[in-house]
Amino acid sequence: MPGEVKDECGVAAVSLKDDTAPQLLYKLLLNMQNRGQLSTGITTYNANKSQLIDTRKDLGTVNEVFRTSLNGRTEKIFEKYRGKRGIGHVRYATSGTESKALAQPFERHHGKTWKWFSVAFNGNLANYRELRDELKKSQYCFVHDTDTEIIMYELMRGMWGKHKPELTDVFHSMTSKIDGAYNIVFINADGDIVVLRDPLGFRPLAYNITGNRVIAASESTALTNTGLLEFKDLKPGTMMTISDSDVSTHKFAESSRKAHCMFEWVYFSNVGSVIEGSPVYHVRRELGKNLAKMETEKLTDDHVVISIPSSSEPAASGYAQVVGKPKKEGLVRNRYIGRTFIEGEGKREKEVALKFTALREVLRGKKVIAIDDSIVRGNTSKLLVNFLRERGGAKEVHLRISCPPILSPCFYGIDMSTFDELIAVRHVKDIRTGITEKESESVAKEIGADSVIYQTIPNLVKSIEVPKGDLCLACLNGEYPTMCGSTMCRQAAENSRRQVKKRTCE
Ligand code: SF4
Repeated sequence: MPGEVKDECGVAAVSLKDDTAPQLLYKLLLNMQNRGQLSTGITTYNANKSQLIDTRKDLGTVNEVFRTSLNGRTEKIFEKYRGKRGIGHVRYATSGTESKALAQPFERHHGKTWKWFSVAFNGNLANYRELRDELKKSQYCFVHDTDTEIIMYELMRGMWGKHKPELTDVFHSMTSKIDGAYNIVFINADGDIVVLRDPLGFRPLAYNITGNRVIAASESTALTNTGLLEFKDLKPGTMMTISDSDVSTHKFAESSRKAHCMFEWVYFSNVGSVIEGSPVYHVRRELGKNLAKMETEKLTDDHVVISIPSSSEPAASGYAQVVGKPKKEGLVRNRYIGRTFIEGEGKREKEVALKFTALREVLRGKKVIAIDDSIVRGNTSKLLVNFLRERGGAKEVHLRISCPPILSPCFYGIDMSTFDELIAVRHVKDIRTGITEKESESVAKEIGADSVIYQTIPNLVKSIEVPKGDLCLACLNGEYPTMCGSTMCRQAAENSRRQVKKRTCE
């Protein structure tokens, strides 16, 4: 459901022959805007400047931070930050507040070039509290409440001493302490870059090496949209190091399994991306086709098939193909609206009314089959169902959801960390058996829909075409792929039992 869960950051790194790192980082980040709109930042390296590494970051989308609406400003920014190498980040806050100080990369200045570095991060440290407490005991003080500060301090610890250590050793030591999902990009004032993906490969990370030009980004579509048709996934548990003399990859952790987040295919990633060889577009279409095979409604001329824009569009096309009805545009998203300012009561209703247009000529008097990718909290679903009836004049609204019910929190970077916020938890008795027909009816009742059909886990796995054991499905089946995930889940269950209203990691 649009706006129900937020995207969870994107990272990029480039090493080029010429000084155009900021231009390329701008393009890469623009193509990953779907992963975070709260803040944007880059750090570039230029050996010919006294400010060897320099960071520009601010709250806002990529175009806002690069000032593209002001004549000539973007060129000046490119000039100021010109350099051969750099890293970049777009952020949505999964931890910490919406403050400019939390925009990434985090730069740590030091008189020694190899200790002067900048780092950006995508993911979530499941053992955040533990690491923070341990660092506090070693007299580190915390200005912010964010995972990136932990990573920065752990890196500083690894660089302690008089002599420049191997970066592979520094990162190896840091990653041995952390549990969770993490893609990291790092650059220091010697121009060394590290690009790293966690041992279970929760988040995607693609790269291309052509000669001595290296480009890496969270999503493959960022690479293909800059003209690079060939790319590889950085293997889980691997770090790539780039220096003046060398580009190499090192395995820093072995793991008996992988845990690619299923939500990347279902909702987060750009529809043009390919993750672990499985194209997001194809997966979403297959999800729609599988949903159609589960249809219980006897479809007639009175029914109309629509998508809840925009990530569920391929699923709606797949569904429509199987049921033999055209997909129509009954709900249109105002794509130019950006962040909204809404005053007074009924904020969420007003926001839906601003963001969407219900086409009465498509919906009026119809039994609407609305395909959506997920229901997390159910608040937006409720509003949209009502909107389709009130504004669109729909006679009935049947929700078809391409993701199975979300029954357990996420501690790996997705913004849903408690049981009580999840609508399906209130209706499903046994997570092991999944949702029953009766329980789906009860979800439909709460949302105000005439019916709800969810995807099944076997159909989801079949659509993604990655072995089940290599996927993270923890929010669907409660089986967490890391130890801290399971511990946090027990904590979340305890918080729920005691009616503690806070994010589980707080
Ligand atoms: S718990 Fe769910 S949302 Fe979180 S990483 Fe796993 S599959 Fe993705």
